Amino acid sequence: MSSVARKIRREQDRTIGLVPTMGALHEGHLSLVREARRMCDVVVVSVFVNPTQFGPGEDFEHYPRDLTKDTALLTDYNVDYIFAPPAEEVYPRGFSTYVTVEGLSDQLEGASRPGHFRGVTTIVSILLNVVRPDFTFFGQKDAQQALIIKRLVRDLAFDTEIIILPTVREDSGLAMSSRNLYLSPEERQAAPVIHHALAKAKEAFKDGERSGHRLTEIVRTMIEAEPRARVDYVNVSDAETLEKTDKLDDRPTLITVAVFFGKTRLIDNTMLNSAKKKEGVGNGSR
Ligand code: AMP
Repeated sequence: MSSVARKIRREQDRTIGLVPTMGALHEGHLSLVREARRMCDVVVVSVFVNPTQFGPGEDFEHYPRDLTKDTALLTDYNVDYIFAPPAEEVYPRGFSTYVTVEGLSDQLEGASRPGHFRGVTTIVSILLNVVRPDFTFFGQKDAQQALIIKRLVRDLAFDTEIIILPTVREDSGLAMSSRNLYLSPEERQAAPVIHHALAKAKEAFKDGERSGHRLTEIVRTMIEAEPRARVDYVNVSDAETLEKTDKLDDRPTLITVAVFFGKTRLIDNTMLNSAKKKEGVGNGSR
């Protein structure tokens, strides 16, 4: 165990908040840090580009890394510990234990990125065991990940409460993401179409549209009208089971999308019927 991990262990009589990240921090990450600071005595931000959640041919090698800049940002937020372990410490030689949430991990992002969530749930399990946080903070931007982590924590009885916070967007509506750094100026101009398409579907839902198929088409058609965009998937599903929904009722429903701009793959989502279960906020589980 590293000296940072050992120091964190000595904090166990205080309320600890953990914000897991892969770095290249932006306002989305910082919104989680701010909430952790508000709720907890000790704030730990992990910065680790986790190799096991990237598939072959994905962007692991090129993923933006700037620990100096991240550290400077986090200092402004009075973060107590930045946990940025070397990969050999997290995955020692002979590492062979993985954690999988079955079912939920195979759909949507899991179907497009096989093995991705196995990497996510494995690293999150390791971080929870090392840091032992009272509260752990994630973004609704990665809606499926949030759902899977909540299931992981419940099923394996991790003693932490998962807090999900709303997606932070640029003024254009584009969801903040470290991968936005890859976009060319033209692609960046085009990318807010994702949010506009989701907003249009949400509007249609408010106006009474209850067909999952037609809502999917609204989103797909609007995104496909943007020549720089290539849709990977658009899906309308039950917000708890992720099962595809065609006839919407008053249950919370999630529209999720993944779209390529050149080689850059962006994801976003919106929740319908979120009044009952306020979008992204406070739906902690323990
Ligand atoms: P990442 O560094 O991309 O692994 O993200 C770390 C955490 O920040 C995850 O819980 C993400 O869901 C969350 N996050 C990323 N982008 C945003 C955003 N735009 N708004 C809110 N949370 C975000």
